[in-house]
Formats: sequence, structure tokens, C-alpha cells
Amino acid sequence: MGVFKKTKKHTPQKTPETKDEIVVKRCPECFVHLPLDAKECFACHAKLGKVDKYGKARKNTNWLSYIICILSWAFLFFYLKWAFAF
Ligand SMILES: [Zn+2]
Repeated sequence: MGVFKKTKKHTPQKTPETKDEIVVKRCPECFVHLPLDAKECFACHAKLGKVDKYGKARKNTNWLSYIICILSWAFLFFYLKWAFAF
């Protein structure tokens, strides 16, 4: 006599996502806790971007230095081309 007990699969209880509500963000430079809407770190005066999912503020992209960097590389490239093109 086989009594087939339907073994209940123990479904792993869905743990409610422990999504910690981010209430503070941390400065990427000095890890000081700052209010979410802070634009600048009060400790090291780093410019702060949006907060990421870890509660750490992103660094604002410094487009000017990007452009300067690209331009200087381009200048170097053209200079080398000019210098060795003879
Ligand atoms: Zn800071």
C-alpha cells in the first residue's frame, strides 16, 4: 500500500527585498555621510552627482577635463603626423 504523500516542496520563502531606503549618500572622496540632495561635500568640497544604489554619490563628470584631454591627444597625434610626415 503505497501512500503517496505529496511532498510539499518547501518553497523558499521569498524574503522581502531588504531594500534599504537610501536616506544618506556618501562622499566618494572621503566617505562622509551627506544628505541626499547635497551637491557638494561639506568636508572635502567634492562635487557630488546622483547617488547610486549603494548610497554613494557619483562623481560629476568633468566634461571640460575630458575635452581638454581629448584635444591634447588629438594635438599630439597631429603634431606627430606633421613631424614625421616628411
Ligand atoms: Zn567628501
